[in-house]
Amino acid sequence: MTLRLPPEIHARALALAREALGLERCAALFSRADDADLVVELVPIPNVAAEPARAFELDGLALLRALRDGEARGLALRGLLHTHPSGGVGLSPHDVDGALWDGAPRFPGASLLVVAIEAGVARVASYAFDDVARAFVDERVDRAG
Ligand SMILES: [Zn+2]
Repeated sequence: MTLRLPPEIHARALALAREALGLERCAALFSRADDADLVVELVPIPNVAAEPARAFELDGLALLRALRDGEARGLALRGLLHTHPSGGVGLSPHDVDGALWDGAPRFPGASLLVVAIEAGVARVASYAFDDVARAFVDERVDRAG
């Protein structure tokens, strides 16, 4: 699978990381049913983790609102994004634990995106759940449009 990010969504994802002031920040990414790999909307979701500089926990109510609002407009959750103030774009064991429920994705079909600032440069990576490997694996990210 390939995730496609239009330039404005890509720019907003990088800005989220650059403006994070050392904290992890989160967002939900939505796509349309007829083009599921093209992200058309990015909705910031508050990070309610006890230590937001080191981890993230999505605000459940804000996420639910975003999901309902998206659904009402024909959009489906395509990814969950969070930022890493340091430490690269790899998923941490905590990231993987939080995305799984009994070994299956908590949000089926939603990729995990990480935006990290490395040496002042923002990078984005995406991971999709592989049903055979039973794990999140690298997913290609293309800039669409
Ligand atoms: Zn992380």
